[in-house]
Amino acid sequence: MDTPTRSPSQIPVGVDPTRPSIARVYGGFLGGKDVYDVDRQVMNKINAAVPEAVDIARGNRGFLNRACRFLAVQAGLDQYLDCGSGLPTAENTHEIVQRYNDEARVVYIDNDPVVLAHGRALLESNDNVHMVSADIFVPPEVLENETVLRGIDFSRPVVLLQVGTLHHLEGDSGPAVMRQYIDALAPGSYVVFSHFFDPEVPELTEIARRIENILVNGPMGAGRFRTRTEIVAMLEGLELIKPNALAEPGPAPCDEWWPDGPRLTPLSGAARCIVGAVGRKP
Ligand code: SAM
Repeated sequence: MDTPTRSPSQIPVGVDPTRPSIARVYGGFLGGKDVYDVDRQVMNKINAAVPEAVDIARGNRGFLNRACRFLAVQAGLDQYLDCGSGLPTAENTHEIVQRYNDEARVVYIDNDPVVLAHGRALLESNDNVHMVSADIFVPPEVLENETVLRGIDFSRPVVLLQVGTLHHLEGDSGPAVMRQYIDALAPGSYVVFSHFFDPEVPELTEIARRIENILVNGPMGAGRFRTRTEIVAMLEGLELIKPNALAEPGPAPCDEWWPDGPRLTPLSGAARCIVGAVGRKP
């Protein structure tokens, strides 16, 4: 059998200063300082193509924070497997959920050496939080990892986070990857998921394609904007919850997922090109 081709995002950037890193570029958009020249070049290209592109990163991170707060407070869940956790930023998953339950356990997974180094330094004194190096697109690497199995009890409900990750997987294996994770979860578990989105409306698809072109055809080599049908196919086996009081259950622009208050300004086109969803495993 042929070995399946790996996405560029599955090959860790290492410390090669000539390769931009997904984690550093995304962190840069969120205002982080770990940005090398090679990352800045990608950010400049994206900003030149879509000046409001920062709304994608901010919308995504806001969604992650609100979803974690919801699951810690309303659903009372106390174990979190955060896949593709990214560089530490202002509010990390463990900081949000441990505010409500200081016994909550969090395992972060990433394959970027800068993320792993920062994560381990940040977590040294927190016994309930661990940082693991693994390829999140090879689920057994995560699900059978010793540290993961020490931190997460899969016989009880878990929160699986795949936030801003699956769009970095090339090809059409996303549903199969997600299926392996969802199958491993106990009933009552939740999945928090976000993904670059092609709204299939000409002016918005144009924005999505401009960014995708820079990501996929540039040195990062990954970053697909997928349609609603493609995204929903990755969430099979879950009961998706309503994303706000007005919308039907399903994915919604991240900024419209139970926002903190009424919107006073319209969403930008870029903000409409990333969706978030939260689903419960029955
Ligand atoms: N989840 C965070 C959030 O939404 O704020 C960070 C999202 S960031 C866009 C994507 C993260 O996934 C990066 O930190 C990157 O290093 C990580 N990543 C991408 N491909 C990966 C892989 N194959 N295995 C492990 N981590 C990966």
